[in-house]
Amino acid sequence: MRIVLLGAPGSGKGTQSQRLMQREHIPQISTGDLLRAAVASGSELGRKARQAMEGGRLVADALVLGMIRERLREADARRGFILDGFPRNLAQAQALEALLKTLRQPLDAVVQLEVDYAELVRRISGRRTCADCGRVFNVSTSGAELIGSEPCHSSGAPHRLVQRPDDNEATVAERLRVYEEKTRPLIDFYRTRGLLRVIHAEGSVEEVTERLEQALHAVPRATVAARRAAPTRKRRAPTAKRAAKAGSGGKRSGPRRTSRRGSARRGR
Ligand code: AMP
Repeated sequence: MRIVLLGAPGSGKGTQSQRLMQREHIPQISTGDLLRAAVASGSELGRKARQAMEGGRLVADALVLGMIRERLREADARRGFILDGFPRNLAQAQALEALLKTLRQPLDAVVQLEVDYAELVRRISGRRTCADCGRVFNVSTSGAELIGSEPCHSSGAPHRLVQRPDDNEATVAERLRVYEEKTRPLIDFYRTRGLLRVIHAEGSVEEVTERLEQALHAVPRATVAARRAAPTRKRRAPTAKRAAKAGSGGKRSGPRRTSRRGSARRGR
């Protein structure tokens, strides 16, 4: 499956992508994680991206697109992928569409995770990451006992929790503003392509995973793949016989039927 998870910072894209990755055996591709790794390694890309990230702004499209082009060409992405945090604006969405067309790997679904603004702020301010294994916790929802109950699988010691530098109050407000301005328009972009599903992403992690799975499987995968792979049928020139059969200029006599399958909301 080739999936995009859309949603504001703190909507749970990262957490849900990781769970989906384990279930579907496809890689999670998070541009945020890739950029943080580039910053940590001190690469040229990291140096160029750092300032924008610290200010809660978007990193330049050219940098992000170069990175994603390389990542999608890796062998593991041929089985499918979950894009987390990409695309973030219309230019990126259009570039992704063109790239996937070249690779002959069209998207199967785009899921929008909807979370109330106050809840987003609460989640982001409580978010902590283990500096050793990278696992994400939330100190406002998971109790201290839970976090300390199992050792870090990387160090064997208790998790060393750190807060992301861009999870501070001022930067969070800017990231949410940027989301509304640049990323929210993608909902319409994908809705018009018939790919959008919207889920309510509050509640327990397990409940959201359940809704996500339902949304993803609302349309059978085979149907999606067949629909996207089907060549566009060329219109045949009208012949006298076909025109007569079609009656009044070949127009449909009844209303067009649209199928509404599944319980997932297809865009509101
Ligand atoms: P995230 O971990 O997805 O919240 O991303 C953290 C930061 O990385 C964002 O605030 C941006 O500065 C940058 N970033 C991540 N993904 C993108 C993207 N697709 N386009 C531009 N900047 C991005």
